[in-house]
Amino acid sequence: MGVRLNLCNLTVEYGAFTALDGLHFSVKEGAFVALIGPNGAGKSTLLRCISRILQPTRGAIYLDDRDLHKLPLKQLSRLMAVVPQDTAVDFDFTVEEIVFMGRYPYLGRLQKETPRDREIVQEAMQTTGIAHLAQQPATSLSGGERQRVVIARALAQEPEILLLDEPTANLDINYQVDFLELARKLNREKGITIIAAIHDLNLAAQYFDDFILLSDKKILAAGKPEEVLTPENMNIAYRTPVVIGRSPLHGKLVITVLKHWHPDKKGTLNAGQRVHVIGGGEEAVPVLSLLREAGFQLSVGPVTREDSSHRFAAYHRLPVITLPPFSPISDEYYRQHLDLIREADFVVIPSIPFGCGNMRNLEAVEEAISSRTRVLILEEQPFSLRDYSKGKAGAVYERIKAKGALLLPDKETLLSALEAFSAG
Ligand code: ADP
Ligand code: MG
Repeated sequence: MGVRLNLCNLTVEYGAFTALDGLHFSVKEGAFVALIGPNGAGKSTLLRCISRILQPTRGAIYLDDRDLHKLPLKQLSRLMAVVPQDTAVDFDFTVEEIVFMGRYPYLGRLQKETPRDREIVQEAMQTTGIAHLAQQPATSLSGGERQRVVIARALAQEPEILLLDEPTANLDINYQVDFLELARKLNREKGITIIAAIHDLNLAAQYFDDFILLSDKKILAAGKPEEVLTPENMNIAYRTPVVIGRSPLHGKLVITVLKHWHPDKKGTLNAGQRVHVIGGGEEAVPVLSLLREAGFQLSVGPVTREDSSHRFAAYHRLPVITLPPFSPISDEYYRQHLDLIREADFVVIPSIPFGCGNMRNLEAVEEAISSRTRVLILEEQPFSLRDYSKGKAGAVYERIKAKGALLLPDKETLLSALEAFSAG
């Protein structure tokens, strides 16, 4: 069970234009592969070639050791099914009739369908969640439903390899995820090898095991997400600087595009102003981002390397005090923090939690607050709900307020206040 797909020096030319240039690659049975690459990289060309819509100019594709372009068509259709990018369906047919077309490769000339064929069609409609639409004309369906009909037809072919060309491109996010869940289920439960050209790199990273990155007519990289989705590869293929992190929700890679991510013109107004932001926790990041876009010079800390605001600081090369993991804030770090605060024109305390671990950061603010350094407190949530120190941090917080810190209820007001102070 299962066939291995081998590309051997695969070259495809459209007239004088070379679309794919000497690809060597093999996809093993049961793989779940995302085919990625910028527009025009040749993803559709490759899939069309594997599905035999196109003949390679040079080289060959093998299913195990059989030349794919020399297999009888019916035999190929039992091994491989294709869901092309545009899911145009034959409008005069019902859903069930369309799915039934997937059985043609198994029927002899003039042979009538068997109960087994009907069973497979039924199962394909059930798997794709369209059984209730069986008797409806295909014209009455939504885009997402139509997509499912085409997949059901492909499944009725009982393929060992399923090729999908940007199957989610026209679907809303909810259908995209449903679709990718379905694809993964087919791969895991039925062992179908899946190769899908997919545009959304983050969705791809969330679902797929293996990647092929096409760039400039060739395979630039192939393998596990960590080997393929690197900043270097993304920069070469997409000509875009990116930052690759991991989602805290599922641990998969997350790609953030950094192009055009610089302060806007309005920001130059604030460029000379230094704002120190007390880091720690996710809630500090939107504040940092907002102030950075407004053009303020930022510093951050003290935070551990794993902290979200540390990542932000590292990406943007901001001054940051880096704490060792799981350690109390030593006197040395406390002093460094005081220095950073004293160099700043403003200190911002975001709406973050405080406990015994980071309470000294509030103490540093209390000690450093002066007529030169203004303290602004963002209080999106009452402090008592964020106080994990049995009230000790709360007491410092109250003293900072009493010393003249300004309390702001939301980020927009915080930004307006900072801009007003910087302007005059
Ligand atoms: P992708 O699917 O990665 O966006 P394609 O495989 O559609 O890329 O296209 C690869 C390159 O081949 C592009 O430069 C495209 O313009 C060209 N191309 C695609 N199809 C044809 C065709 N039928 N005739 C001529 N050039 C084509
Ligand atoms: Mg394409």
